[in-house]
Amino acid sequence: MTTKDIILIIDDNIANIKLVLDTLNAYGFEIVTALNGTMGIRRAKFVKPDLILLDIMMPDISGFETCRQLKADDEVKDIPIIFMTALSNVTDKLKGFKMGGVDYITKPIEVAELLARVKTHLTIHRLQKELMARNQELQRLNKELARLAHIDGLTQLANRRHFDTYLSQTWQRISHEQGDLSLILLDLDYFKAYNDSYGHLTGDDCLKRVAQRLQEVIRHPTDLVARYGGEEFALVLPRTNGQEASQLAQRIQTELSQLQIPHVRSTVNPYVTCSMGIASTIPQENFPSAIELIDRADQALYQAKEQGRNRIVLFNDG
Ligand code: GH3
Ligand code: MG
Ligand code: MG
Repeated sequence: MTTKDIILIIDDNIANIKLVLDTLNAYGFEIVTALNGTMGIRRAKFVKPDLILLDIMMPDISGFETCRQLKADDEVKDIPIIFMTALSNVTDKLKGFKMGGVDYITKPIEVAELLARVKTHLTIHRLQKELMARNQELQRLNKELARLAHIDGLTQLANRRHFDTYLSQTWQRISHEQGDLSLILLDLDYFKAYNDSYGHLTGDDCLKRVAQRLQEVIRHPTDLVARYGGEEFALVLPRTNGQEASQLAQRIQTELSQLQIPHVRSTVNPYVTCSMGIASTIPQENFPSAIELIDRADQALYQAKEQGRNRIVLFNDG
């Protein structure tokens, strides 16, 4: 069963209140009343009715002023207001709309007209609320989609796509301030052999654990850890020079060794290790370039592998 719509009647005329109340009650609405504007506003805030029927001529504050105050209050501003007016003058009717009323009914009140207008505006208001709720849900889903679009499903780190965007944005930003920018590429050692001995699922778990630890190691909110692909990770480190990036890489190496993930088939260590290549630069508008930075880190990583793995190499173009 649907809950009853609540209608608030604000009117100083008891006879009028009674007529409206009896009519609407008979049609299953729940009615709340107030005899003046001040009380009406208080009731509205307390009851949060679905619709307000508001008399214009009242002794304390007028219906227009009551409407103005209701519309200025976030708690009740969306409740539709129908003016009840003995005034047949067009200026006052227009003023009612201008104040934020959705409609008006002239007195003496015609029962059929009253009902028709009340029902119409309750329906419009309900549809508006539904539409707003759906819009909010859509916005929420859109945000969630945008989030998922740049997250790697397995590790929950930024994915390659986000890494690319972030690196080029950071490149632009840092080139303006003439600051340092470092990139670490990290690749797990002998990970194919790891999968072969422990299975792909255990391999996945290992990637997750490494990812989580990498996320914990970074310190600055603008640092980004991404899954670069397969068993490779990338760290974008704005305002970090080569020496600082090397220190971070050493920390990562230590942290990874502390995880002590067994790797019997690794020839460098009984536990899972990684090799890292670092490239640092002070970005210029277009030189070297974000791509060039990746390429340098990749060359350094290649050297780390060549030199025996489980080590860090800082790119050196000299
Ligand atoms: P190297 O020390 O030279 O890096 O040797 P490697 O075996 O780590 O490198 P290689 O590129 O030969 O193999 C990478 C392996 O990583 C192979 C692939 O099955 C595994 N891998 C890539 N992505 C995933 C993944 O999502 N889950 C699991 N479990 N394994 C993955
Ligand atoms: Mg690899
Ligand atoms: Mg590898």
